[in-house]
Amino acid sequence: MTSNREAQTHYCETYGFDAERRRARLNLLDLTEADAALGDYLRSRVLVPNGGAIAAAFYTRLRDDPESQLVFDGADLDALHRTMTDYLWNFGAGFDTPGYFEERLRIGLVHAWVGVPLGIYLCACQVLRVLILEQIDRCIDAVQERLDLCAFVNKIVTLDAALASDIYHIAQLRNLEMSVTRLSDERARLRHAADTDALTGLANRASLLPRLAQFLTVSVRTGEPLCVIMADLDLFKEINDTHGHLVGDQVLRDTAVRMRTAVRDFDLLGRYGGEEFLIVLHNTPLDIARQVAERVRRRIGEYPFSVRDIGLRMTISQGIALAHAGDSVETLLARADAALYAAKQAGRNRVMVADDPGRD
Ligand code: GH3
Ligand code: MG
Ligand code: MG
Repeated sequence: MTSNREAQTHYCETYGFDAERRRARLNLLDLTEADAALGDYLRSRVLVPNGGAIAAAFYTRLRDDPESQLVFDGADLDALHRTMTDYLWNFGAGFDTPGYFEERLRIGLVHAWVGVPLGIYLCACQVLRVLILEQIDRCIDAVQERLDLCAFVNKIVTLDAALASDIYHIAQLRNLEMSVTRLSDERARLRHAADTDALTGLANRASLLPRLAQFLTVSVRTGEPLCVIMADLDLFKEINDTHGHLVGDQVLRDTAVRMRTAVRDFDLLGRYGGEEFLIVLHNTPLDIARQVAERVRRRIGEYPFSVRDIGLRMTISQGIALAHAGDSVETLLARADAALYAAKQAGRNRVMVADDPGRD
């Protein structure tokens, strides 16, 4: 059935052991049809009668080794013994089938997952090889038969150990890839958190200023106009004083949303501090900047903010400055700030443009 066959080659497919690679591996080890017959003989004469004894000797040996002991800590030894006996009873059976490769890869992966060091796994393969060879010595008299069976054992143990090594290596690479992805996701998350104002979700001051500096450099180089708008909610302190800080926080969040809808996607909008916001409009002349500021003013003032069923009428004052030759971020912002101050002085809820000494 298709689904069974698919399930059977899951590891082969995932880890790149297609038919061609499986064949190449068997060719390299010179595993042929003659070996299949040797396998039948070995199992019936040596491994089925002695599988339990070999498994017992194998675990006795490994339990004396300090590194292997760590692996066995807490393991169900009876279950391991049964699995090993079963492995010996089926030693090398069907080595040329996809199912064999699939099972060896699965076993290798299980050992990698539970943290058996690859070196220990390979040493254990060698221990097992010797134990099997000792049994062949004991059970088989004919010298040529003995030699043939030993060669077969060597090929199968090498095939199994090589498949385990391959899958260990790939599993480690996969883990590494996953860690790298996790790290870069985490880095992006931290970067975003560092650049973002937690209350409003807008860019924070620390991320606004370098980006403004970049825009200023581009504007100087290209001659494209650059405007900044400094915006400050009017009499915001009264909201806090009258309704509490949490209501004030919600007004700030809603202000950010309303401002976002008033500026274009490519304009830079951020929270400059407290109830002050900064809008950076690159490649934008003064008259357009004034229109943007008026739109912001309308959005904030056109209908009350509704927080906890309280309707709060808010207004906002704004100062605009157009960058000119010789401006730094500081001088540009200082002029926008002065214009904002003038707007407050003139009665709030208005837009003022900074005096530009470079122009009339
Ligand atoms: P003006 O029209 O002159 O700007 O008056 P104002 O009351 O808006 O300005 P003022 O500078 O006197 O007060 C600003 C207030 O904003 C004081 C401060 O507690 C409050 N504020 C600053 N940051 C936050 C915040 O994150 N949450 C809340 N709820 N309030 C804040
Ligand atoms: Mg204010
Ligand atoms: Mg303020």
